[in-house]
Amino acid sequence: MNNSFYENWTNQVYPGLDRAVDLIHRSTAAHALQAIAQPPVGAEGFLALLSGGAQSVGEQVEAAARRLTEQRFGRTVNLYIPLYLSNACVNDCAYCWFGSSNPAPRKTLTLEEVESEGNRLLGQGYRSLLLVSGEGAGKGEVEYLQSCVLLAKRMGFAQVGMEARAMSVAEYRILAEAGLDSVTIYQETYDPSIYSAVHPKGPKKDFRGRMEAPQRAALAGIRFVGMGVLLGLGDFLRDAVSLASHVKHMQKYHWQTSVSISFPRIHAAPGGFSAAYPVSDRQFVAMIAAMRLAFPDSTLTLSTREAPRLRDRLFGMGINQVSAGSKTSPGAYTLEGKSEEQFPVVDDRTPAQVVEAIRGRGMEWVFKDWDENLRPAPMGSGGSDDGNIA
Ligand code: SF4
Repeated sequence: MNNSFYENWTNQVYPGLDRAVDLIHRSTAAHALQAIAQPPVGAEGFLALLSGGAQSVGEQVEAAARRLTEQRFGRTVNLYIPLYLSNACVNDCAYCWFGSSNPAPRKTLTLEEVESEGNRLLGQGYRSLLLVSGEGAGKGEVEYLQSCVLLAKRMGFAQVGMEARAMSVAEYRILAEAGLDSVTIYQETYDPSIYSAVHPKGPKKDFRGRMEAPQRAALAGIRFVGMGVLLGLGDFLRDAVSLASHVKHMQKYHWQTSVSISFPRIHAAPGGFSAAYPVSDRQFVAMIAAMRLAFPDSTLTLSTREAPRLRDRLFGMGINQVSAGSKTSPGAYTLEGKSEEQFPVVDDRTPAQVVEAIRGRGMEWVFKDWDENLRPAPMGSGGSDDGNIA
């Protein structure tokens, strides 16, 4: 595959990544202040904002990130909601309750059930939907996902995204042609040995296949790609720097696709999994501010994994998109006898309560910021399928 981020990254990880981390450790508050004087920040400024020195000027950094967010997105926060389609999965990610070795009961929604869940969410005002699915073993999985996308579009969701397994270009293209607007695919960690330890089996073991999935989605004509690391799995600084470099790569080679960045962080995980490299609130906020100042036009997304108080503080401070009222199991919005959740939702406020909190910070909420009419004319074939299905 041309311009593979994996190749670039493996070529520069030593000493490039080591040198970047060294620069972070040598950066001071003065470097951080110098960086925010003229946003957006460049590579060295980004590193300075992750440094211990930047902590003493954290308020100024947050204020700069807030100003830039407001300049680019206004005083608004987009709301979206996840709809879990299936918790069946052939992988066994150590941090996930849906892993194949866990005894969680399995459920895949029928299309009728998807419709009833979708209707409940439409009734609450949502127009931006994230379809979530484990990696099913069965034939016909892509056809099932395609049917769910077609259904969601027919029902009136303006923006339909998907967080599922890493796919080939051909598979992403099937979903793009069905109307899929966005693909969310986290690398989880950029440390190959940690990646391999926490993904002991299943197709997700393929580190390179995972790393190249955002590129495949872009080649297939997916308009928005969401990226991130699972904070706490690997070394915070190395993962933050690798992620920023991956985003830069996508922006350089796949500029037709908008990249958004998410910040999933491990707190308590079902099954007793704990973060080997816990990320403090201070590091978490610093990373969000640094990403905003480095990527002013990218959507920065926050899920309900975080506590209400911290979420409220981050609305508009870098973050311009949040989920609210989320449930993390298939059928959780409408079905009796709900299945177990993938991870605990910490902000369990209702959508109305979250809207109130957004308003309380002098901002407005938006249920829809995208419309089919904004979709550009279909792209060309957009590159070849490398057949590398993760
Ligand atoms: S994180 Fe995704 S791929 Fe891994 S076990 Fe959970 S559902 Fe499956």
